[in-house]
Amino acid sequence: MNQFQYLKPLETSVAIKSLTKDPNTHFLAGGTNLVDMMKMGLVTPHKLVDINRLPLKSIAKTSTGLHIGALASNSEVAEHGDIKANYPLLSLAINAGASPQLRNMATVGGNLMQRTRCPYFFDLTMPCNKRLPGSGCAALAGYNRMHALFGASDKCIAVNPSDMNVAMVALDAVVHVSGPKGARAIKFADFHRLPGDHPEFDNTLQKDELITSVELPASATSFNKHVYYLKIRDRTSYAFALVSVAAALHIENNAIVGARLAMGGVAHKPWRLTTAEAFLKGKSVTEDTFKQAALIAMQGAKAYEYNQFKLKLAPNAIIQSLKIASGLVTA
Ligand code: SF4
Repeated sequence: MNQFQYLKPLETSVAIKSLTKDPNTHFLAGGTNLVDMMKMGLVTPHKLVDINRLPLKSIAKTSTGLHIGALASNSEVAEHGDIKANYPLLSLAINAGASPQLRNMATVGGNLMQRTRCPYFFDLTMPCNKRLPGSGCAALAGYNRMHALFGASDKCIAVNPSDMNVAMVALDAVVHVSGPKGARAIKFADFHRLPGDHPEFDNTLQKDELITSVELPASATSFNKHVYYLKIRDRTSYAFALVSVAAALHIENNAIVGARLAMGGVAHKPWRLTTAEAFLKGKSVTEDTFKQAALIAMQGAKAYEYNQFKLKLAPNAIIQSLKIASGLVTA
């Protein structure tokens, strides 16, 4: 068994300092991903800093939007009155993820940080550049059914497993982090990264930084009526997405004033469909409009041996989610 030190600080600055002192230190929040990885021997920390007593749980309105503390649980966020009323896409996406028990434990910060569910990442006997840089990628020639369509590299074709992240990127959220050099804000779209030559890095957070909150902008509240989160998975509960789509439309007089569209299960990061969003703007709400948007969204997609089916599944999911969000059909 790996021996580790366990700390439970009361102040954010103390938690950050403990991280700076030893690079093999991990923050523990809900533990729904980290504890699994520790049990499997994938992560062997020297020090575990339990951050659950830090004052990072609040959900509150600000002058620019809605502040969500990094330690707010997924359940609290999904059921929060302001979020259900003004950012319902986020509630739908969170409730599509995991199980009620996991959502009670999992936190917003932890959801941002969760690792891929590529099976080779968890199998210590297989090569995996994400787990062990330079060892190779077993998924490239392996069973790559769950893997990426967009933005992959010859080093890694894994996908980000989160549902929450898909809605967050569609809503233009901002991630607030704190480190020894002070606080900074990162656009949600820039928080997760593509694998490139360094798939060992999932995101742009520095090793000595802590996520303190996520902010939803007030501008996203115009997308509070016509929304849908469609998640296609192998079973109806407690499974990761093969493909998911977060769709939000601002519609006036049957015309699309604005669109927010993002996909999950298709890339190393939540995949925002900005070109399709631009196409949708000003168009009428018709099935044909949505079919054209899906064609645009799929440009550049590349499948591997076992995930060819996603090339058909993904555009169909986009069309269906837009039809449901717009009210053309019911869920
Ligand atoms: Fe590892 Fe990424 Fe390859 Fe999976 S796809 S085996 S996570 S390098």
